[in-house]
Amino acid sequence: MIIATAGHVDHGKTRLVMALTGVDTDVLPEEKRRGMTIEPGYAHADLEPGVTVSFVDVPGHERFVKNMLAGVAAIDCALLVVAADDGPMPQTQEHLAVLELLGITRGAVAITKIDRVATARVEQVRSAVELRLRAGSLRDAAIFPVSALTGEGIATLRLHLAQLQRTLPLRAPHGAFRLAVDRCFSRPGAGTIVAGAVLSGQVAAGDKLVIAPAGHLARVRGLQVHGRDVDRAQAGERCALNLAGAGGERIEVERGDWIVAPSAHAPTMRLDASLRLLADLPTTLKAGASLQFHIGAATCGARVIPLAARQLEPGTTGPVQLILAAQVSALHGDRFVLRDAAAHRIVGAGFVLDPFAAARHRARPERLADLEVLARPGKAGAFESLLAAHAEGVGWTRFAQAMNLDAGEQAALRSQVPAHEVAHEGGVRLVAPAHWQALQHRIRQALADWHVQHPDSLGMTEAQLVLALAPMADGALRRSAIRDLRAA
Ligand code: GDP
Ligand code: MG
Repeated sequence: MIIATAGHVDHGKTRLVMALTGVDTDVLPEEKRRGMTIEPGYAHADLEPGVTVSFVDVPGHERFVKNMLAGVAAIDCALLVVAADDGPMPQTQEHLAVLELLGITRGAVAITKIDRVATARVEQVRSAVELRLRAGSLRDAAIFPVSALTGEGIATLRLHLAQLQRTLPLRAPHGAFRLAVDRCFSRPGAGTIVAGAVLSGQVAAGDKLVIAPAGHLARVRGLQVHGRDVDRAQAGERCALNLAGAGGERIEVERGDWIVAPSAHAPTMRLDASLRLLADLPTTLKAGASLQFHIGAATCGARVIPLAARQLEPGTTGPVQLILAAQVSALHGDRFVLRDAAAHRIVGAGFVLDPFAAARHRARPERLADLEVLARPGKAGAFESLLAAHAEGVGWTRFAQAMNLDAGEQAALRSQVPAHEVAHEGGVRLVAPAHWQALQHRIRQALADWHVQHPDSLGMTEAQLVLALAPMADGALRRSAIRDLRAA
């Protein structure tokens, strides 16, 4: 489990993580066995024997978004920190808003520095926090008054976090392996070491991976989770990988890169996404707005085009197209945050619907219907709806890649959703049985009509038949349906 701290500067986040874990995330890297180190801002601890969690702490407000996002796709839980003397402050509010935009539902609140105030003040702050949590995604978060100075309340909070970890639904490490690199360095003799949150899938020593978006190949020489050598690491964990180039050479990796399985390597610069805007923005979001885009540990400029209307209103959610200034490794469901860099404020957050979006017809009603389908949970249901909506079929290879389906998930989805398979641009296109039957019915009808109209003719040529079916489907599909019928 990865726990992210959030809250106003100087409210005691770092001291609290230290009280919980014994690790000071503000000090310089502590040398570790085999040259691996603990990054300032990251700590892990056995809350109880066998219950290990990672903390992502926030070193200063400016890095809040960067650090939190570096693990946000894998973050399970938030620890909101509010000082008893100050009470909720503007950054408390802003961080809470981001957690809610991202749909983080698990968490706890620590009211820190209770050694500095009277009990009545603690209760006052508790009420103020409850009021702010009430309507949002963290409404079930329990509140713990603590003092990192005296240790009061720390054991109770630690027990609660261990309990949260135990009740976390076991996630199967689905999908191809993806890690968002938030730290990298090289060690003489150890090569390149990268660390970050595993967003999906799993990894083991010897695996061949791709450094995205550049596309260089690398091999895993060894890995660690929580500072210990392990055989494998999986989604929801932070891990460190020791990487070598495919030929054993040294490789360059930067913070913001991704390390991905070859099948998940598909850099993109145009995404369709669901975006929720903060409620207290001073203006609406207009087409072409230039914002800062944060995904994984990467950041780049983005132009935002609302798709369902000319503009998106504060506090609302809508489909948008994001045109990026750099390549990123994004897949369906990945969370992101948009910031106004000049105004130093977060504008909104959301998740990717289609990582391989097109500029053409991006706001057509049919396209908006597809995006609505992609915003619903459940990949099989989404695929079935897309098949029903597209008589010409759906590109399966692209869909499987966009949704990050591993081989097992692909097989399961194929057996769950019946469809006819058609070869298509080096990949496979799938057509719903009803659409396929309709096309075959039309072929039989066209042949019958021809014989009535041309009783002396031997029959239609394939080209004539393809032409006769013209409004029904595209050329490739028509030819495939004709051949299929002929072979039967
Ligand atoms: P951060 O910016 O939220 O990470 O805040 P820090 O953890 O760096 O703490 C800010 C200041 O508050 C430091 O001087 C801490 O020693 C102090 N502090 C943190 N927690 C407590 C506490 O529970 N009691 C008291 N008295 N001081 C605290
Ligand atoms: Mg701090």
